[in-house]
Amino acid sequence: MLINKELLKSNAASLGVELNDEALEKFDCLAQLLIEQNKTMNLTAITEPDEVVIKHFADSVSLFSAVTPEKEAKILDLGTGAGFPGIPLLITRPDIRLTMVDSTAKKLRYVADTVEKLGLEAEVLHARAEEAGKNPGYREQYDIVCSRAVAALNVLSEYCLPFVKVGGVFVAMKGAKAEEEIADAKKAIGILGGKIADKKTFTLSDGGERTLIIIKKISQTSAKYPRVSAQISKKPL
Ligand code: SAH
Repeated sequence: MLINKELLKSNAASLGVELNDEALEKFDCLAQLLIEQNKTMNLTAITEPDEVVIKHFADSVSLFSAVTPEKEAKILDLGTGAGFPGIPLLITRPDIRLTMVDSTAKKLRYVADTVEKLGLEAEVLHARAEEAGKNPGYREQYDIVCSRAVAALNVLSEYCLPFVKVGGVFVAMKGAKAEEEIADAKKAIGILGGKIADKKTFTLSDGGERTLIIIKKISQTSAKYPRVSAQISKKPL
């Protein structure tokens, strides 16, 4: 055993997320695979087991303190990197239909291998958000879209909201400076068919402050969005 399962169980429980023994076993496996692979490729700067538990695993599953997916809900993790929050979400709720998107093929290969080794199923998509968001197979197809550590909220909203079904939610997983980002993104969120519905702030057991910004999709996103990359970052909505 590599991780302290009690630490993970109690940290998740304090966020309102129950983890059963099977999930805890898979999290232990995930930590081993992550730390092992990280020796040969750059997946994460966090490699100490207690830190992996708190900063990657508990932080990822905190999404479920903001939204409880229906059975077999379609969830998309945009800019998943080494699989966060996607893989922990799938371990916790193996019934969800998860798509993990990233523009870096190397990390996605690790993610796909890892999902398979854990005995789980998910779709991994190598694409930029700006492209996949225009594809009718992905556009407005998801109940929940989430994203951690990818871009500022105004830019991130243009990446993520096109994927959300009307009636679904986009949850941005942010740190301490969420208020400023919200102020800068309100206009963009409205233009893209979203509305800020709620905001949940909490502290991880290592003292890290986190905010989940819950944005409801209230109307379809205009076909004008997402724009091309350069425009999104140079002229955020
Ligand atoms: N969500 C992970 C990784 C964050 S690093 C975590 O929290 O640990 C940001 C990731 O977003 C990188 O892997 C990068 O390749 C990806 N990314 C950035 N912009 C993107 C875009 N426009 N479309 C798809 N992926 C993107």
